[in-house]
Amino acid sequence: MSEQKPVLEVNNLSRSFAIESSMLQSITERIRGVKPQLLKALHDVSFSIAAGETLGVLGESGSGKSTLARVLMGIYEPDSGSAMLCGREMFDVHGADRLAVLKNMQMVFQDPFGSLDPRMTVRQIICEPLKIHGMMPQKNLDSFLVKALADVGLEAGALDIYPSEFSGGQRQRIGICRALMLNPGLLIADEAVSALDVSVQAQILELLIRLRTERNLAMLFISHDVAVVRQISERIILLYRGNLVEELPADHLLTHGCHPYTRHLLEAALFLREGARLPESGSGIIPMANFEGCCYRSVCPLSQSECFQRPPLREIAPNHRVACHFARR
Ligand code: ADP
Ligand code: MG
Repeated sequence: MSEQKPVLEVNNLSRSFAIESSMLQSITERIRGVKPQLLKALHDVSFSIAAGETLGVLGESGSGKSTLARVLMGIYEPDSGSAMLCGREMFDVHGADRLAVLKNMQMVFQDPFGSLDPRMTVRQIICEPLKIHGMMPQKNLDSFLVKALADVGLEAGALDIYPSEFSGGQRQRIGICRALMLNPGLLIADEAVSALDVSVQAQILELLIRLRTERNLAMLFISHDVAVVRQISERIILLYRGNLVEELPADHLLTHGCHPYTRHLLEAALFLREGARLPESGSGIIPMANFEGCCYRSVCPLSQSECFQRPPLREIAPNHRVACHFARR
């Protein structure tokens, strides 16, 4: 990990949701006084990100990646845990303090179509964060906006056009421009290139890498795609059913990734490339009551009686931690 003081520091973050049951089942449960079963979407997750660093978050659908982004953005309250952004407490803060936290952290979303209001011009879209935070420049607004667009590879002519006139890749550039208007310390990208064609994906990844370097941005880059996460990240954390199972430098992922779930994901990525059938991972909803011990034990090839104890995240090499009793490099 970098020697710099972290921009983002997350400690033991947890968040659960009630598992949805049918209406009849939920009425019966209420009559019987049974508490709804809970699903731990995030379970005791800790990590940090330094300035200028990209931390990749890798995991299959349902592993808790978006929940992590939403808890950090304040869309969901955490059940427990804490986080500091640029030295400020992120949760349990209100009013001006909350606004100051939000100003320092912006997000790029997956859907380049749904994430931009079709009734607003690009000018209105990129000015919105400035208005919310009372930071509209009093002089030379147009040249300020034109420079912001140029930074993400868009022409000045885009300012007074509606999002519907742009391609998916261009819309994602508008979303990135909006996210950077307040010059945040942290950018969260949740599946930001997943909806794009492969060639456009490469251009947006290149743009994000350039912007991160120029602005010394800390970036939390979330994706289910092994290749994409490896390309953009310095370090990677792997989530399985809300649990952080491994953390390691991105360039060690293929050679040294050793949690059985990490190995499964890497094999799955290889299988996909070769057009073969995906191996079974056993993902799906597991209620909290069934969560004792290792989260991966029910499908793990290394599983033994020790796995009924939750494995701690232990350091097995510099900057490499793994939550498995048996995994070795
Ligand atoms: P990912 O982004 O990795 O696909 P999510 O964070 O969206 O995963 O979801 C993790 C788990 O939490 C899933 O099982 C999902 O169904 C559940 N979940 C997420 N948001 C909610 C919600 N608002 N209400 C109930 N369950 C939710
Ligand atoms: Mg998601």
